[in-house]
Amino acid sequence: MDTVDMDELTWQEVGNAVLGGRRTVLVPIGATEQHGPHLPLGTDTMIGTEIARRVAERLGDALVAPAIPVGCSHDHADFPGTISIDSDALTALLSGYVRSLDRHGFEYVVLLPSHGGNFPPVNAAAPELARDLDAAVVPIANLDRYMDLLNEGLQRAGIDYEEPVVHAGATETAAMAAIRSALVHEDRAVAGPETLDSRAELVNEGFDDVTESGVLGDPAHATPEAGEEILETVADAYAGQVRHERRALGDEE
Ligand SMILES: [Zn+2]
Repeated sequence: MDTVDMDELTWQEVGNAVLGGRRTVLVPIGATEQHGPHLPLGTDTMIGTEIARRVAERLGDALVAPAIPVGCSHDHADFPGTISIDSDALTALLSGYVRSLDRHGFEYVVLLPSHGGNFPPVNAAAPELARDLDAAVVPIANLDRYMDLLNEGLQRAGIDYEEPVVHAGATETAAMAAIRSALVHEDRAVAGPETLDSRAELVNEGFDDVTESGVLGDPAHATPEAGEEILETVADAYAGQVRHERRALGDEE
């Protein structure tokens, strides 16, 4: 099989893949929301999809479901182009994904949010989603860990800079430069606040009260090489976590 992207396969190819041992399916959960003047609205979706592909390739027995391209982005709602759905709508969508994938024989449905606002609803919904199904639902949804891994990638690339809260700064700009450089408008990049009183302030008051440009941190530290390190760092860690979770659920690889 040349691709791990399920939407590029036919129904027979997916059926045969499951019969042939591809028992895990990864669901990237992205967003359509402002990412400053220099990155596209689909940044979280594109990065999350790329991470899911790299995890699937490492596992060797997984496919990637079509990414969910919108999520809970209310704190960015005042920026044009941001599309937000509420957590009940996201949960309903995930329920449809999980039920469909369970029906076709996948044993593990891995939920991979790549936008901060989607982590809480994914964690809240995950236990209920698996109810009455054969498939296990495995959320990889620890936001602090995700941001730590992104920063770790920067450090591995030799960049001495750390972002307190990730949004359109060095790590996401680097990742986009690695995968979709034509969509990164370096000449329009500006730095945003480096420190925040609290993440709650962002969520409650909205990004526009904290950062006029929509950026947190400094995209000037981004390089494509760092983006590659970041994507590999997250993919290594996540593939390890999927294997760990599958073993904990009784899987014998
Ligand atoms: Zn983002």
